[in-house]
Amino acid sequence: MRKQFVVIGLGRFGKSVAETLFKLGHEVMVIDNNEHTVQSIMHNVTHAVQADALEEETLKSLGVRNFDAAVVAIGDNLEANILITLMLKELKAPFIVAKAQSLQHGKVLEKIGADKIIYPEKDMGIRLAHNLTGSNVLDFIEVSANQSVYEVIAPALFINKTLGELNLRAAHGVSVIAIKRGTRIIVAPGSDTKIKEKDVLIVIGEK
Ligand code: ATP
Repeated sequence: MRKQFVVIGLGRFGKSVAETLFKLGHEVMVIDNNEHTVQSIMHNVTHAVQADALEEETLKSLGVRNFDAAVVAIGDNLEANILITLMLKELKAPFIVAKAQSLQHGKVLEKIGADKIIYPEKDMGIRLAHNLTGSNVLDFIEVSANQSVYEVIAPALFINKTLGELNLRAAHGVSVIAIKRGTRIIVAPGSDTKIKEKDVLIVIGEK
């Protein structure tokens, strides 16, 4: 489904998010106050606006509540990052993703209502570590200090076996809550569900 996104601030992170969303076939509006930056991305997004996102009228006129998600990708200017997140919240943007510089900054963003906080360097570091150790983990969300939800590529050993046969809860202490098979999602798969090649398992378990 084609979705609508707005990305504010086109540093390396914002630019990469915006261009990837556009390549994936979504509508992407970007805002940056630097003319050169806006011009350089013009052909790789749906709409590029040169404006100061700190001006409330700018955000108001965009109708942010109609976007599926707004990404605040300004990093260096903490004040702008926080104020823009706050304004987006007040303007009822349905889902706000904000980039944080530190854990303290992230806490402030969480308090003012950002729905998802990104720590690009920290998150990338964790992913790289998983990657280097050959783990199949694609993504994960911490749900508590000990428990996380993981997205894992089904290991070769699992292919053509049922969840019952694999008995992952006893063997690995994890429960499979869903299976992504292409564009299909099998929610709460039963013990007779057979794992196929390229399946992505969504599991909950201890770290
Ligand atoms: P990265 O690490 O992703 O490269 P960064 O954290 O260094 O980025 P910044 O350089 O702080 O990010 O800002 C990213 C972009 O945000 C810049 O292109 C800058 O022009 C833009 N920007 C900063 N303040 C505003 C503002 N008030 N309104 C619109 N754009 C802004």
